Amino acid sequence: MRYYSTNGRAPVVKFREALFRGLAPDGGLYLPESIPVFDSSFFTADRSYPELAAALIRPFVEEEIPPAVLTEIAAAAFTFPVPLVDLEPGTSILELFHGPTLAFKDFAARFMARTMAYFQDRLGRELTVLVATSGDTGSAVAAGFYGIAGIRVVILYPAGRVSPLQEQQLTAWGGNVTALEIAGSFDDCQRLVKQAFLDWELLSCRNLTSANSINIGRLLPQAVYYAWAWRQVREQDVVFSVPSGNFGNLTGGLIAVKMGLPTAGFVAAVNANTVFPDYLRTGDYRPRPARSTISNAMDVGDPSNFQRIRALFGDDPGTLRREVSSFGFSDRQTLMAIRDVYERTGYILDPHTAVGYLGWQRFRRGDTGNRHGIVLATAHPAKFRDCYPEKIREVIAEPQRLTEFRRKSRQVQTLPTDYSAFKEFLLD
Ligand SMILES: *Cc1c(COP(=O)(O)O)cnc(C)c1O
Repeated sequence: MRYYSTNGRAPVVKFREALFRGLAPDGGLYLPESIPVFDSSFFTADRSYPELAAALIRPFVEEEIPPAVLTEIAAAAFTFPVPLVDLEPGTSILELFHGPTLAFKDFAARFMARTMAYFQDRLGRELTVLVATSGDTGSAVAAGFYGIAGIRVVILYPAGRVSPLQEQQLTAWGGNVTALEIAGSFDDCQRLVKQAFLDWELLSCRNLTSANSINIGRLLPQAVYYAWAWRQVREQDVVFSVPSGNFGNLTGGLIAVKMGLPTAGFVAAVNANTVFPDYLRTGDYRPRPARSTISNAMDVGDPSNFQRIRALFGDDPGTLRREVSSFGFSDRQTLMAIRDVYERTGYILDPHTAVGYLGWQRFRRGDTGNRHGIVLATAHPAKFRDCYPEKIREVIAEPQRLTEFRRKSRQVQTLPTDYSAFKEFLLD
């Protein structure tokens, strides 16, 4: 299996190179040259979650990771439950928030960490993973790589611009994970990371890689839970509603469909950042600055995986529209959905999942096919306690993992925004 760049001006590479590069040298994103297709017996077979993950990912890493090793990686990465909960007739919730940081990004980060560790082991040189984060990605990456030998992780986050809980999840680690609080904005953090990757003096003595959301190692594991959920419903006419920001999660689902998973389509549900539904409607892709919302992990004005979706569908919004519907919702609608679902069922949606739920409701209204909706629940409500009305906030149980984070001491270094200080830190 080889990987090409969506910009089409970089050489094709093997999985390992795509994994360590992250971004292709022409600025494009890597995609597999061909997507293997399984027949329906593959998707109905009885397997545990890690077994399914290994079977589905195997053809993408063939000849580079032996099957037995891939099985071990999947078993070590996916150690938590992935329940499908019945919400109401015709609607289920796929809970993707039972990993260590209580958000679906744990699936991607834990798989990528262990895959990198496998290749790294054979390289024999310490690897440094750099991540600039505005919150959730950094904690999932930290948790994913924590304690993995031979890999050091450096997380840069903007001082005073992440929530107290996010900061606790970024700074609780120590060991091979260093949190750097940068006295600037998220853009400053990103700039420092980019500059490091262009610094030949630094690259000659440090083995650097990035773990941002465009990495192919994060995409593949995000195809697995669609097949997992479909197997439990076992209906042909399943629609997945995906709360979307950078569209990595949706891209995982689209890859699953190209592999033969028989679904009846997707809803890409977004908040007030409506670049994608606007593109589906007009055929015109117009990135714009992100707007702040209560589903803040989806505040993206130029979704990075758009290039991949465009490549998978031959830049044809007409073809894409047949597979994906997309709708945007305001914070007011999101809060109303949270309240409504809680009052009717007792189930508490997090703000991101609530946007996904609204997307499914909107789709369902225009649906004559009586389809079954699966809403992807991307985070645990306890992560976003502050946005709930008092009455609901009171009844959100705090998972033990969060309580443990709150108890840990803060391990962090503060740096200014100038590159020389960051470089000195990396060389030290
Ligand atoms: C990252 C994130 C999303 C958006 O996922 P994308 O793959 O970027 O579309 C949705 N919900 C939560 C809780 C997230 O952390």
